[in-house]
Amino acid sequence: MTALLFLWMLFLGTVYGGYLGVLVYRLPRGFNLWTSTSMCPKCGSTLRWLDNLPIIGYVLVGGRCRFCRVPISRQYLFLELASAATIAALFLKFRFFMDEPKTLDSAVMLTLWYGFYLLILLVIVCIQRGNRQPPLGFLLIAVIIGVLGTIIPEHWLLPQCLPEVWHTSQRFYLVTLIAVSTVYSIGIVLLICCLSHHLWDAAPFHTDLIVMLISFLFFGWLAALFLLIIGGVIRFSYRGEFPLFSIIVLIGSLVWVLAVC
Ligand SMILES: [Zn+2]
Repeated sequence: MTALLFLWMLFLGTVYGGYLGVLVYRLPRGFNLWTSTSMCPKCGSTLRWLDNLPIIGYVLVGGRCRFCRVPISRQYLFLELASAATIAALFLKFRFFMDEPKTLDSAVMLTLWYGFYLLILLVIVCIQRGNRQPPLGFLLIAVIIGVLGTIIPEHWLLPQCLPEVWHTSQRFYLVTLIAVSTVYSIGIVLLICCLSHHLWDAAPFHTDLIVMLISFLFFGWLAALFLLIIGGVIRFSYRGEFPLFSIIVLIGSLVWVLAVC
């Protein structure tokens, strides 16, 4: 059953990755997030649904637009792979590589919790790399979820509150976990669609500040302090645009969640 759920998480990871590509492209340009049809940014042709499939779509068209043959940004493929790898690594970490490995349901919820944080950071990094800033509304969603996560008792989020039948029926257990992770994902997507456009663009400094706030909410003060120090030192000892503060926080967070948590 763990293997099945692992495959499911891997699948979710690639789907998330596809969505991240959409966010990175549309958010800083103020494009509508509600429309699901993707277009080639060069020739404006509507992509076929097959081309939108994560990873497979990219391979099928050989990394080029089916219509005008202009190369598709490698960033889409990178995001799909990075997202899948992140989700898979988190799941394996919480299920197996801990002093006290988590139960399957806890592992799924923790993967979604930290996965959301890391993938949001990944979107911010990719947007900033293009010398743009994410809308403030998008950043605030992460803050809201971080606050909710710290005040809502864990047993409300974890499906442990579900009836006893859980412990008797393996199939019910599996289906519930798949359903919960799907509902959670769709909820986040709807939240992002609703809120992202309604607030002004953040300045780079504001983005960094909110990134710090988010890492504090998700990891606690110790990790936030660690990230602030390494981020600050590297950021200010390096002359020029790179490395961005958010890149350092992303890498630092990844190390923290996989090695320390
Ligand atoms: Zn095209």
